Amino acid sequence: MNFARDLRMTAARSLLVGALLLAASCAGGAVVKPGVQPAYPSDPGALTVVGAENFYADVLHQIGGGKVKVYSFLSDPNADPHQYESNAADARAVADARLVIENGLGYDAFMDRLLKASPSSNRVVINVQSLAGAENGSNAHLWYDPTVMPRVAAAAAAALERLDPTHSDLYTTGLAAFNSRERAVDDEVAALKARYAGAPIAFTEPVAGYLAGAIGLSVKSPMEFMKAVEEGNDPPSAAVAEEENLLRNHEVKVLLYNSQTVTKLTAQVKDVATASHVPVVGVSETEPPGTTFQDWQLAQLKALEAALSS
Ligand SMILES: [Zn+2]
Repeated sequence: MNFARDLRMTAARSLLVGALLLAASCAGGAVVKPGVQPAYPSDPGALTVVGAENFYADVLHQIGGGKVKVYSFLSDPNADPHQYESNAADARAVADARLVIENGLGYDAFMDRLLKASPSSNRVVINVQSLAGAENGSNAHLWYDPTVMPRVAAAAAAALERLDPTHSDLYTTGLAAFNSRERAVDDEVAALKARYAGAPIAFTEPVAGYLAGAIGLSVKSPMEFMKAVEEGNDPPSAAVAEEENLLRNHEVKVLLYNSQTVTKLTAQVKDVATASHVPVVGVSETEPPGTTFQDWQLAQLKALEAALSS
């Protein structure tokens, strides 16, 4: 089996879909290139901002409403963000942006290249890795840490107030609303921690690692297995056997299955869980379309709670 080939096939499909979209839009007269549309409606004259990942774009939207024109690059629920390659439209959005949020930790290394390609003295860049004080090599999925997003939101609101003082009241109100929605997530994490701290679980990929840590869950999956899946490599067969045995022997209460970083191998692991009657909870890298950051997190936490209580 060749998992690298699976990823290349996914990339080829994405290119094909892109070409079809472009052909369809040309046929209709207007040229609409995928990836360049703002993520939310905005007022005329709105400040151009970028959240490289769609959950950071959502934070910007929750705080700035119509006063910000938000672009986002990593948002396709059917694509693996770890394999993303930026395009010319992304470069243009970054060049126009007054405020940019990037994740760091190599998750969106393309952002550093885009920022360097269009230097600007009046653009504010929030690097979430720096904000969180995360060392290189740490788990890159920082937005799953319930203590990180409120700090991102506070930094974004402060930047918007500085860049656009006329609407500073609106940004202050937006931040308060963000934080109040965030409390529902914190409450759910606390409730799960009170009941399930120490419960053994398995991952296919460490996307929800910080969340599991906040709840106090004990992740039993071999590190080499999770790392290899994250990086699109084949894990050592001993690690695969260890992962599957966790499920076959019921050494874990639940499998947290990354629904975006999918390979033939992770699908196989999921099948082992199902056959062994270990509950499987889907977790995704990016925010699903049509929801909010907090509702997304809450839905996943509720599914986890249902699985842990079964
Ligand atoms: Zn990941």
